Amino acid sequence: MSIAVVSDIHGNRQAFEAVLEAIEEAGCEQVWCLGDLVGYGAEPDACVELAERHVAVCLAGNHDLGVIGAIDLAEFSSTARRAAEWTRDTIDPRTARYLSPLEPSDERHAVGLYHASPRDPVWEYVLSPLQAELCFEVQASRVGLVGHSHVALAFWRVDGELATGHTRTDGDELEVGAGHWLINPGSVGQPRDGDPRAAWLELDLDGWKVRFHRVEYDVDGAIVAIRRARLPDSLADRLRFGQ
Ligand code: ZN
Repeated sequence: MSIAVVSDIHGNRQAFEAVLEAIEEAGCEQVWCLGDLVGYGAEPDACVELAERHVAVCLAGNHDLGVIGAIDLAEFSSTARRAAEWTRDTIDPRTARYLSPLEPSDERHAVGLYHASPRDPVWEYVLSPLQAELCFEVQASRVGLVGHSHVALAFWRVDGELATGHTRTDGDELEVGAGHWLINPGSVGQPRDGDPRAAWLELDLDGWKVRFHRVEYDVDGAIVAIRRARLPDSLADRLRFGQ
């Protein structure tokens, strides 16, 4: 089965629509989402509606959990907290109903799914080989998928060696049929790896291959929506730079 993996959509409808279009063109059979449909961006209801229509498996991210009141917003940075409060006050009850039952991890599939990490599915940013090494110790499946850092990357470990890995870009392909892997597709709605294009990942569960994708989208439209909602300016500006 071919799976499209998305993460960290963050209320960016323009980016999510562009990614879903690319996924449809690629002919993937299912879309899986690693969480954070909302927070930061100006169109949380539209993003959750798209998820309802297109996403087969969906995790909760820390922003989703903050918005529905499952975790305390005091743990967020001030900008993230302001955006989460705005989202909480703005969303349709239907959006809250979709988000409420979601969990930050799901180990019922051929690969482990975690919003942040296998050790701490809500908060840990996996950005170093040492962290990946520690995650492999508790990861239930050979291959794990994580979001949260908004950086497209892959770590792997061959038996008897230390974990290694680095960031990944559009068109990068990996054979993941052997060894341990921890892979982040990057962010749909707020990339932070210097590439402003929306990110997603194609996962072939039969051939054990993955391919990283980046898609151009209407960044200006997303920026206008953020300014119109009077969300913090920095949330609009960073989209242009992918930071
Ligand atoms: Zn996020």
